Amino acid sequence: MKDFFKCQECVDLLTDYLEGSLEVEVKRRLDEHLAGCAPCINFVRTFEKSQDLTNRLREQQVNVPREVQERVKSFLKVELVALSSERQK
Ligand SMILES: [Zn+2]
Repeated sequence: MKDFFKCQECVDLLTDYLEGSLEVEVKRRLDEHLAGCAPCINFVRTFEKSQDLTNRLREQQVNVPREVQERVKSFLKVELVALSSERQK
């Protein structure tokens, strides 16, 4: 079966995915991709953890600058792309 999404596209959708704001059809396809793609699943877990950490810091009145959040996000993207291209070797 052909993947509906490339990993990179999934990463771009993940923020919406975790917020639950994706369209039902898009979410379904993303779920299908995630079901067969270990690097993406790992990415979701790592991403959830980083979101969790950010939320916890916020609760403790620690201000995490937007720039840092964005940097974490792009770091994770690079990691995922590296993982998925390694898998295709
Ligand atoms: Zn993937």
